[in-house]
Amino acid sequence: MENMELTVMNMYSDILNTYGDIGNFTCINQRIRWRNIGLNIQECTIDKDDDFNWEDIDIILIGGGSDNNQSIVSHHLLEQRKELVEFVETGGVLIAICGSYQMFGNVYVDVDGNDIPCLEVFDIETKSAADRLIGDIVISNAINDSNNVINKDFSFKLEDMVGFENHGGRTYHNHDPLGYVKVGFGNNGEDKKEGMVYKNFIGSYLHGPFLPKNPHIADYMIFNALNRKYSIDEIEELNDSIEINAHNRMLKRLLSE
Ligand code: GLN
Repeated sequence: MENMELTVMNMYSDILNTYGDIGNFTCINQRIRWRNIGLNIQECTIDKDDDFNWEDIDIILIGGGSDNNQSIVSHHLLEQRKELVEFVETGGVLIAICGSYQMFGNVYVDVDGNDIPCLEVFDIETKSAADRLIGDIVISNAINDSNNVINKDFSFKLEDMVGFENHGGRTYHNHDPLGYVKVGFGNNGEDKKEGMVYKNFIGSYLHGPFLPKNPHIADYMIFNALNRKYSIDEIEELNDSIEINAHNRMLKRLLSE
């Protein structure tokens, strides 16, 4: 895939990086390099949002964090609202994990009852509770069931997704879920939904980090970015025997418990 290049931006690596979510950035960058696709990387955080053109960004990753860290980033994140809305609406590829997923909604009430200002991009409401939803999680893959994603019927190498969740927040919305809970809690421990998808946006509670444990989702994101930028209709397969063995080993353990 010579002569192609992608620009990948991680937001708040220094503040929203609970459970090593920065591993998502490492994983997607390496899977781009393995395909001989040119890679530019960009960081954006408080006091370090060098001048860059949002039009140059192809993939954005944002991790999770404590309620306090979400408060710390909130003001700076809301300053990027216009650009983030345009990025998502024009098919930009973005994954928001846990706390950042929550902050793409309308409301996040933290465990002390404080409203943390959110981006109000999606009709999502989250209220935190003292008893946290913690543990390994397995979800089905509901991406191809959605009529609100850009590349429906992507041929995934793997079916389910595995990860780890730790959140006080209970999230409720009527958007299409990323998947349905097979093991664990998901958005709220009640409706069996986990995460959400819209165009090329993915929100999820899955830490892990998520993408190294689920290389098929990393490839789905890379495909979407290449399809948006170069109108490609297929992506080069990588030898994922090690990744798939690790994924299936976790899956087998969790589904047999
Ligand atoms: N602080 C949020 C919660 O407790 C998000 C946690 C996280 O990102 N792991 O729900």
